[in-house]
Amino acid sequence: MTKKNIGKDNFLNESIHDTFTNSNQEANGSAIVVGASLSGLMTGIALSRAGMNVTILERVGAKPRSGAVLQVDSGEIDRTKTAKVLRELASGGIRSAEAWASIQYRLRTEAQADPKIDLRYDTRVQTVNQDNDSAWVVTDKDETFHGDILIGADGHRSIVRRYVAPHKPNATFAGYLIWVAIVDENDIPKEHRPSLDAPKFSMPDGIGDFLLGSIIAGENGSHALGARRLGWAWYDNTQNDLLRRLGCVERNVVRHSLNALDIPEQTLVELAEKASVRWPQPWLDATLHSIKTRNLIGTPVSEYVPDTLVKGRIAIVGDAAHLPTPLTASGFNASLQDAATLAEYVVKGIQGAAAAKALSKYESRRLKDVRQIVQAGQSFSRSFGR
Ligand SMILES: Cc1cc2nc3c(=O)[nH]c(=O)nc-3n(C[C@H](O)[C@H](O)[C@H](O)COP(=O)(O)OP(=O)(O)OC[C@H]3O[C@@H](n4cnc5c(N)ncnc54)[C@H](O)[C@@H]3O)c2cc1C
Repeated sequence: MTKKNIGKDNFLNESIHDTFTNSNQEANGSAIVVGASLSGLMTGIALSRAGMNVTILERVGAKPRSGAVLQVDSGEIDRTKTAKVLRELASGGIRSAEAWASIQYRLRTEAQADPKIDLRYDTRVQTVNQDNDSAWVVTDKDETFHGDILIGADGHRSIVRRYVAPHKPNATFAGYLIWVAIVDENDIPKEHRPSLDAPKFSMPDGIGDFLLGSIIAGENGSHALGARRLGWAWYDNTQNDLLRRLGCVERNVVRHSLNALDIPEQTLVELAEKASVRWPQPWLDATLHSIKTRNLIGTPVSEYVPDTLVKGRIAIVGDAAHLPTPLTASGFNASLQDAATLAEYVVKGIQGAAAAKALSKYESRRLKDVRQIVQAGQSFSRSFGR
């Protein structure tokens, strides 16, 4: 396997590279990970640190994607070195708000520099299966990949979940969406840009709606005046008919997000009118700029409380395993714990029957916690969702 790199990473801390290099152990079996978003990349990195050869398969291309702002915990509950290393990669080990794309870039750079990780884009997994000796996937290119274990990090519409939990295959629409965007502070008038000591998080109340605003570093990592970005997430429970009409939601299952180009002009006009009477500065200018430039995405929220995380040699992690409302600010943080916990149990070996035993220990450790995380957000969803 060749060592790959995607160029200079302004964020990457040299000491993390050293930690990884030093912690690499003799090969300890192999893993297939489905999905190369935050959860899949963290799982791949964690399993490689546990000595495994890892193949990560991602259905979309390597082109950078955008996403929301995530609140990353400071890691008081991190029990293992792997958890600390993953958090260091995600946020520098401090409680902070980070752009999804910045976290993804740092994790991806780390995975691509790791000789034990084979990261393949444009590869959609179509089926998963297992027998006593291995687990495998078959892709849309008719390729088969085998591993001692197989981990589904394939998000809210996970096909690995369908295999692991056929009795409960789908996440359920929570009855509202979140409009999300990230705006350069230079794109709003100077007089409305936040001062350097402005709170990093704001939560202004709207008329029935509410908004989470975060001030985050610029793409180059700088928090200097003029370099920062404003991330906002607007919780809106009035778009359900639109979501159904455009096929984003069918019955009680979310099919896809509402992309900027598909948002009807009239919806944008109404959003701008609502923003004008709801949000204070700088969030008013930030939302209006996103609406005007169609730089926003509507994400229908769904939730999933798992009964099971594992079947034999196959397990699920991240949003595939547990899907809380983003209001809990816990999906990413829980995914990090999933990855670190898996690594902790597989490091002892996964030959033969040991594979299923290791995954079963992962499930015992994580299931109660992740159920509680999702359930904690459901009381909000029940009152806000329609
Ligand atoms: C608006 C918003 C705000 C949020 N805020 C926070 C926060 O503040 N704090 C926090 O902790 N969490 C937050 N979250 C949650 C967090 O973003 C996720 O929990 C986290 O990113 C983990 O996602 P994931 O990698 O499991 O799933 P996804 O990001 O959905 O990734 C799944 C990946 O699998 C790929 N895939 C799917 N099917 C296949 C297939 N068949 N074959 C191959 N690949 C496949 C997809 O293309 C995708 O890349 C927020 C989420 C949203 C939507």
